[in-house]
Amino acid sequence: HTEGDRALETPYLQIENVHKRFGSFVALRDIYLDVYPGEFVCLLGPSGCGKTTLLRIIAGLEQQTSGRVIQAGRDVSSLPPAKRDFGIVFQSYALFPNLTAAQNIAYGLQNAKMPKAQIDARVAELLETVGLAGFGAKYPAQLSGGQQQRVALARALALSPGLLLLDEPLSALDAQVRVRLRTEIAQLQKRLGITTIMVTHDQAEALAMADRAVVMDKGYIAQVGTPHSIYQRPTTPFVANFIGVMNFLRGVVASSGQVRCGNLLLDAPRNEFDMNTPVQIAIRPENVKILPQQDAFDSSLPNVIAAELEEVEFLGSGYRIGMRLEGDAKDLITSELPADAAELLDLQVGAALVAQLPPDCIQVFAQEPVRA
Ligand code: ATP
Repeated sequence: HTEGDRALETPYLQIENVHKRFGSFVALRDIYLDVYPGEFVCLLGPSGCGKTTLLRIIAGLEQQTSGRVIQAGRDVSSLPPAKRDFGIVFQSYALFPNLTAAQNIAYGLQNAKMPKAQIDARVAELLETVGLAGFGAKYPAQLSGGQQQRVALARALALSPGLLLLDEPLSALDAQVRVRLRTEIAQLQKRLGITTIMVTHDQAEALAMADRAVVMDKGYIAQVGTPHSIYQRPTTPFVANFIGVMNFLRGVVASSGQVRCGNLLLDAPRNEFDMNTPVQIAIRPENVKILPQQDAFDSSLPNVIAAELEEVEFLGSGYRIGMRLEGDAKDLITSELPADAAELLDLQVGAALVAQLPPDCIQVFAQEPVRA
């Protein structure tokens, strides 16, 4: 689906002009969001941006100050959690420690007065679904963190809710388990086709799992889009920097396709600013090329800059290097090099390098207003 196709569909969940204040503190403002059937949406942003508050408002665990939440065409804005239709998984597994995995999963089914034989069949099916067939008799303390989180997921899915809410479900797990479980959750979500909203502060997790990501900052939505579009076409420097890493160079617009940064005149297409506007050009480290010395003076290449190596960091799959650009700009920019490219270079601190900033990979933003 492109975002255009979706406009013709009826959203499963609509958040309309939600605001939330805690006393005089504004935690959320002007929140509009449509989530489509079967979509996996990640709420993403730095600590304190309001993502957990928004998820809790969707669940009815927190009451918005104003605005509406519409789920499956029904205004649920003032319903308590029990009257809404969702399953939720929290960061802390929140399992009953005195109940087995099977009993934890069965809990909501018993409350819903499902007959015993049906409960047993459903629990077995759910254990299978989350890859824990045969673990039903274990107590939470006998399970690993990843296994406990699978039980929590099975419990959230038990009553076949219309909406799955995930509140940083992976952040308490160690790195390897986290990466495996995120793939499994994303596959399971697609298999079940359940509309899902996940809160995370981990941008890699959001890029890997989400159909669309909602990037939040200080209580408002900074950008909504597919992971690809947010990564490739961030609309603000905040989003550019929060999603992945970005180099910024300050300058002024010198002509429609050029920006002057100190004594460097750089080609920067896709730039709609007026002459002399203070701007910043942005380029991702993986797009900053390092040229062999002999190509340094090939005048047909745009944006070739001499630089001095200042920092080298081994990443395993390659290197991240920090270079000081020559000339009066003297900015530090970073580049990521695959191991094979790095082998051809002298990576001693102080070495002379030739960097290239391919114009296609450059984005131009207005400079943030400078406050006195
Ligand atoms: P984190 O990743 O750190 O959990 P978050 O983006 O989920 O951050 P929220 O938990 O939604 O952020 O909180 C948003 C802001 O609202 C924070 O500044 C927080 O201190 C404030 N806040 C949240 N809950 C309350 C509350 N019950 N009373 C007062 N302030 C609150």
